[in-house]
Amino acid sequence: MSLLDFMQATPAAFIGVCTVLGLLVGSFLNVVIHRLPKMLDLGWKQQCAELRGEAPEAHERYNLLVPRSACPHCGHPIGAMENIPVLSYLMLRGKCRGCGAAISPRYPLIEAASGALCGYAAWHFGFGMAGGGAMLLIWALLALTVIDYDTQLLPDSITLPLIWAGLILNLGSTYASLHDAVLGAIFGYLSLWAVYWLFKIMTGKEGMGYGDFKLLSALGAWMGWQMLPLIIVLSSMVGAAVGIALIVAIKRGRDIPIPFGPYLAGGGLIALFWGHALTERYLQLFAQ
Ligand SMILES: [Zn+2]
Repeated sequence: MSLLDFMQATPAAFIGVCTVLGLLVGSFLNVVIHRLPKMLDLGWKQQCAELRGEAPEAHERYNLLVPRSACPHCGHPIGAMENIPVLSYLMLRGKCRGCGAAISPRYPLIEAASGALCGYAAWHFGFGMAGGGAMLLIWALLALTVIDYDTQLLPDSITLPLIWAGLILNLGSTYASLHDAVLGAIFGYLSLWAVYWLFKIMTGKEGMGYGDFKLLSALGAWMGWQMLPLIIVLSSMVGAAVGIALIVAIKRGRDIPIPFGPYLAGGGLIALFWGHALTERYLQLFAQ
């Protein structure tokens, strides 16, 4: 019996492996969330310097792998034992071993979210393409959510490959037929693009960014055009709930811009798991 056969025959083992994989990738997502915006920033500065005809500033190599992770307070390098998802944070009681500075609880939270969602995806979809693809989407959406929250940016280097990944997975109709997926990618982009221009012409303000169009395009490519209305309704509901909670809980001002990406990601994730069930329920209401 090969390892793959074993996983197929034993759902509990598959769910366990996916949860652990989710935790490990969650740890890497923390690196992506922290470094990708800085890498983009460095790249833009370099391009600007080149345009001005200046010699690009020399700086240390900085990418997702180099330099090694270190405490931002004291530079203490983070060893393998301090890098175990969630567990290390608990064992270190949330403090750096070098200087005792508090480590943000965000790191273990993102790891735990990735682990739990991947375990759930494995249980929901079972062994196969749909389960594996769902984990990929979960990781991309988690990274986009936190990066958008931090920087109001949805990097092309995540959203554009996500569109392709959805189309490729649906070559074999994993979540939707290829026909519905291609239309999903097109309508996903165009619908928010149209809202953006309507809003801009009417108010002179920019309500959202081009990253939002690409993210909804990706969700359409993954789930097909039929899911787009549901994703938009769900994102607005999640957005309204979180927005009201923030205004009530921390008396956050009403006019502070709230990035739309996290809500699209949340709506997309709900649609991935329960989209078909929700749509059927909704249609049943009218069938009687
Ligand atoms: Zn430290």
